[in-house]
Amino acid sequence: MKGPSGPATARPLEAAVLRALADVEDPELPITVTEMGLVHAVSVDKDAVRVELLPTFSGCPALEVIRERVRGRLAAIPGVRVVDVVFVFEPAWTADRMTDAGRARLRAHGVSVSGARLAEPAVCPHCGSTNTVLENPFGPTLCRAIYYCRDCRNPVERFKPPSDDPLVRGR
Ligand SMILES: [Zn+2]
Repeated sequence: MKGPSGPATARPLEAAVLRALADVEDPELPITVTEMGLVHAVSVDKDAVRVELLPTFSGCPALEVIRERVRGRLAAIPGVRVVDVVFVFEPAWTADRMTDAGRARLRAHGVSVSGARLAEPAVCPHCGSTNTVLENPFGPTLCRAIYYCRDCRNPVERFKPPSDDPLVRGR
């Protein structure tokens, strides 16, 4: 290909991969892997794509589903023949990696995205109160805990930060 080339035209396959990743939704929450900040690195070598994802919580059963969804979506891109999707643990995923759009979607779904550690209070996504109590450390999945808001009396889901993950802690 000749002519003027910006980043988008110089690496059309890479751009297609990034667009495709923005389509892949988490199996349990209304958020994409891109909004969640799971995508650490993307590399394209001819027709082979390698994607590095950061796990939110190493024991999370959704991770394998996410990996398969990413693999399937990228394999559907014309010109892609080999797809390699791996989880890497450095840097550790934190809620800071989420996009504003992703946070807004989770809040609308009743999921608190505040706080880096479970010791910090959960902020109620419904009313903004920090008057929340841990009700059940084992939410609908291993990755989430259930809180209760004493002000608006709604249940609040919260991600368990990886720093509180016994499988990661101490590594
Ligand atoms: Zn509330």
